[in-house]
Amino acid sequence: MRIVPRHEFVPRDQADQAYGDRALPIGEGQTISQPYIVALMTELLNVQPGDAVLEIGTGSGYQAAVLAVLTDQVYTVEILPKLARRAAETLDRLGYARVQTANADGYFGWAEHAPYDGIIVTAAPDHIPAPLVAQLREGGRMVIPVGPPGSYQTLWRLTKQQGKVVSENITDVAFVPLVRKP
Ligand code: SAH
Repeated sequence: MRIVPRHEFVPRDQADQAYGDRALPIGEGQTISQPYIVALMTELLNVQPGDAVLEIGTGSGYQAAVLAVLTDQVYTVEILPKLARRAAETLDRLGYARVQTANADGYFGWAEHAPYDGIIVTAAPDHIPAPLVAQLREGGRMVIPVGPPGSYQTLWRLTKQQGKVVSENITDVAFVPLVRKP
């Protein structure tokens, strides 16, 4: 995280706030997550070099850039076209061009590149999306906040072991909701 320039991922008028341990607005009613939470979720994902990792909720692209330091196979999906476009531009401009971005409803994951060793969800659904579990490799980890919108959610780490999902309750978090395309 020390080598990823967080100020490049926030609006220019927020750049002086970029190295505080706080979430910041990135437009469209969305936020770039607090660095502590980015660190916690990244650590829980236990990414090894060469792992295929899927992020749901590209937002600014910052979390994807942090993942790209750890592996060369990062895929990230964003539902809002404007944010998807801007994050793709930012990632390219800063040299994270290997990160593959898509503008789609991440509830369905990104089947084309599955299975994944890690899936990180940075917007909160009220249940665990079955397509994401299906796209997780045996031994793969998923880090996901689950709970009601506008309140606190539970951060879970799910691990696929012998086809079953083992879940660990990590802590309480507050994420924007995972929205669905109308
Ligand atoms: N990881 C981001 C922060 C994510 S904020 C970063 O590092 O900046 C949550 C993001 O999830 C928002 O950009 C929101 O538009 C997006 N999102 C919400 N629902 C989604 C869905 N169904 N599929 C993909 N992205 C979604």
